[in-house]
Amino acid sequence: MDIISITGAAYIVAALLFILSLAGLSRHESAKSGLTYGMVGMGVALVATIAQTVDVSEYVEDRSMIIALLLLAVFAGAAIGLWRARIVEMTGMPELIALLHSFVGLAAVLIGVNGHLAGSHYSLDSLNNIHEAEVSIGIFIGAVTFTGSIVANLKLSAKISSSPLMLPGKNLINVGSLVLFVILTVVYVAVDPGTGQDIVLAILTLLALALGWHLVASIGGGDMPVVVSMLNSYSGWAAAASGFLLGNDLLIVTGALVGSSGAYLSYIMCKAMNRSFISVIAGGFGIAAPAGEDKDYGEHREIQADAVAELLAGASSVIITPGYGMAVAQAQYPVADLTAKLRAKGVEVRFGIHPVAGRLPGHMNVLLAEAKLPYDIVLEMDEINDDFASTDVVLVIGANDTVNPAANDDPSSPIAGMPVLEVWNAKDVIVFKRSMAAGYAGVQNPLFFRENSQMLFGDAKDRVEDIVRALG
Ligand code: NDP
Repeated sequence: MDIISITGAAYIVAALLFILSLAGLSRHESAKSGLTYGMVGMGVALVATIAQTVDVSEYVEDRSMIIALLLLAVFAGAAIGLWRARIVEMTGMPELIALLHSFVGLAAVLIGVNGHLAGSHYSLDSLNNIHEAEVSIGIFIGAVTFTGSIVANLKLSAKISSSPLMLPGKNLINVGSLVLFVILTVVYVAVDPGTGQDIVLAILTLLALALGWHLVASIGGGDMPVVVSMLNSYSGWAAAASGFLLGNDLLIVTGALVGSSGAYLSYIMCKAMNRSFISVIAGGFGIAAPAGEDKDYGEHREIQADAVAELLAGASSVIITPGYGMAVAQAQYPVADLTAKLRAKGVEVRFGIHPVAGRLPGHMNVLLAEAKLPYDIVLEMDEINDDFASTDVVLVIGANDTVNPAANDDPSSPIAGMPVLEVWNAKDVIVFKRSMAAGYAGVQNPLFFRENSQMLFGDAKDRVEDIVRALG
């Protein structure tokens, strides 16, 4: 059997493993085996691709140079990847993912440029035209993904402001850029190589780089989760476009899997955030934060850990709604101890998880699973939202935007319309945070000033540990 048939078979095996991986990742219980399938699939794909490259390079003059470059790229990539994965904090994960998406975008641009420089040498004009269209589309998707992901990385790491950039006529800019891209592609395909094709492609690349920047810069803070999953999808399509250019079937299949699963995740998140999916894809959903007048919400009340312990000991039902602050404080372990203590005393304890709590989809579920909390007491927002009214105490641990009643009550709020955990319906609400500062979306939270709310200030981990101690 020749190497092409062997790699073809290996690619089918890898593609199947990737599908099994996605299926596994969709449920808590099977997530670990899903990851294993993915890693084995990637291993098979890498070995097959390296074997094919080494074999094909037999016919090339500087074969040893090609192999050396290949190994250098693989080892450098593996070393940097291992190093980053080992040092990244859970809270830094979203920005790392955004950065990795930007690499996929950049790779697609470079593969597109290579496709342009190498040209196509089919005897049929129509096949040459298809090659040129692939170059143009690959570079466009790759460049949009590249700059879009860089802006997402800068916003998520708070290196630039997370508030939306509101250029006048932003929708026109986005739609106009798409129309211009189609025109430039037609021109690029129509003109002969050497007669201005380079210039057309350079303009197209700059246009796509600017569009990617603008699309993500226009998105407001609270909508960033959807942007991250959307860029995930774009990076998949960029990889698929590269697969067409390189004639690599596995890259096409894998890119399509990432592209479609990312698009589906964006759809689910849009539903959770009450945003229109179409306007998200068009990048036009970052609504400007109205120049919010400084409302006077009144005074907030404070409480100490001992008093919270007393309140909890006398409660029959408790719901904990964790947020980004629990991740920052790494409070999941004392939270698990607290849960065990209360359950041992006969208190019903459940968790309410907002779909965009934290900084990446499933962030809270991962932390709670890490602390070995049973899955059956961890409920989605829709499953638990009606139960707050019959709950004695809600512990809001480092959550802010996801429990903000302004999303329901104030149509001028930047997070208006986003479904939130309706914690204020419970008898008592205890909010764990360090100050009265706003959450990720930068809006004040009227929950803190409600009559049944009390603030427990300090680092969430320290305060939960205090409560566990006080419970004895
Ligand atoms: P928020 O980001 O709204 O608020 C977190 C709160 O935690 C802050 O108010 C902060 O207050 C508090 N906090 C921070 N550190 C600590 C600490 N050590 N101890 C105690 N409290 C702490 O969190 P939510 O989870 O409610 O909302 C998530 C937000 O992030 C949403 O706006 C969402 O759109 C956005 N987002 C979500 C993504 C996702 O995929 N899930 C991705 C990108 C953005 P203080 O400083 O006073 O302590």
